[in-house]
Amino acid sequence: ERSTDLAGAERAYELDRRHVFHSWSAQEKLDPMVVTKAEGAYVWDGAGNRYLDFASQLVFTNLGHQHPKVVRAIQEQAAILCTIAPGTVNDARSEAARLISTHTPDGLDRMFFTNGGADANEHAIRMARLHTGRPKVLSRYRSYHGGTHLAVNVTGDPRRWASDAAADGVVHFFGPFLYRSAFSATTQEEECERALAHLEQVIQLEGPSTIAAILLESIPGTAGIMVPPPGYLRGVRELCDRHGIMFIADEVMSGFGRAGKWFAVEHDDVVPDLMTFAKGVNSGYAPLGGVAIGEPIYRTFAERVYPGGLTYSGHPLACAAAVATIHAMEDEGVVEHAERLGREVLGPGLQALAGKHEWIGEVRGTGAFWALELVSDRATREPLAPYGASSPEMAAILAACKTRGLLPMANFNRIHCVPPLNTSVDEAREGLAILDEALTEARTSAG
Ligand code: PLP
Repeated sequence: ERSTDLAGAERAYELDRRHVFHSWSAQEKLDPMVVTKAEGAYVWDGAGNRYLDFASQLVFTNLGHQHPKVVRAIQEQAAILCTIAPGTVNDARSEAARLISTHTPDGLDRMFFTNGGADANEHAIRMARLHTGRPKVLSRYRSYHGGTHLAVNVTGDPRRWASDAAADGVVHFFGPFLYRSAFSATTQEEECERALAHLEQVIQLEGPSTIAAILLESIPGTAGIMVPPPGYLRGVRELCDRHGIMFIADEVMSGFGRAGKWFAVEHDDVVPDLMTFAKGVNSGYAPLGGVAIGEPIYRTFAERVYPGGLTYSGHPLACAAAVATIHAMEDEGVVEHAERLGREVLGPGLQALAGKHEWIGEVRGTGAFWALELVSDRATREPLAPYGASSPEMAAILAACKTRGLLPMANFNRIHCVPPLNTSVDEAREGLAILDEALTEARTSAG
């Protein structure tokens, strides 16, 4: 049976290389992993090797793989009604919208469903522009908002460069990031105050009457898991209120428990005007994203047509998966578990690694959302890989992790530990132990 599996995996690989065009890649420099099986926090490759998934794939399998309640919900929905046009009423969609609204901040009670995070941000910006009648959108450097035209332009990472179209009314500013402060700050309080003063100046210089929205990841994810200092998001909320600007919180990665709360805006008690979500809403078991809409923007489109839509908006299979995911998260205390995992295991465990490994410049995060900022020199904070690229040292760490059965997420000079939220304490410790060994091996071989 094993050899049949192996033959199947080899055939899948060969066909992939011949016919599948992969995201964000030079097609012939790829060696993608065949995944034949996945369960909970583990995946198996074509040769039968098991890996602990500390990346939750692309930070979306918040319940891990093959959660039986979610699998069953998809099967049951498929048996009843696989698909239906968005203009109809469907019980899976209605119930998903209701359940999501029980967890979103006060007043964000109307859901516009999309296929994922990028289109959720596109629609949120469109709503804010139509609501305010203003053209511009402000977003921060060191951010990721998606791969479609406008979403990649509001993004503040190198993936924007190839498609840059500054004419779209997109303006970038610096957000708080004390370790690499753009404001020469030395404390979180200073960083918060100066980042808000900088944003206020950008608003003044751009012209408040031209700005429709400020779009911010509540905790920037792929860009480095920079938990904002207390008061920063509240300060942004105040600036928005003062100038009639819509606050769009991108909770695509930070939402649905990842940061140890249902939504990361709760860390600063902030209610945005619009909030985008995807990924964890249904653990990625079927493509789903959305915009949670507050009452004032909803009212704009009460009598006036909203000019936007998608064939699969509120797809029944994806919505049934969302309903089951949210029920499982509630019933199994998943958000509370993620919070505890961060506070008791991942946070202290990663800090202990920092005490041992010179390459770790900073450990930051919360919940099941952690980053190691790796540096070649702690004094100068020289990154272990340049901005926008990898390095032999980073590749060596990742290879050493993989050999030992761990798949962390890597971005430039950072390793992110973002396992499924229901990862057990033992599994989390297993991952930390492998990371410890991998850092030692890579450092030793770097000489
Ligand atoms: N926003 C954030 C914060 C994300 O992390 C991502 C994806 O990683 C997106 C938006 C884009 O989501 P999608 O890839 O589903 O379009």
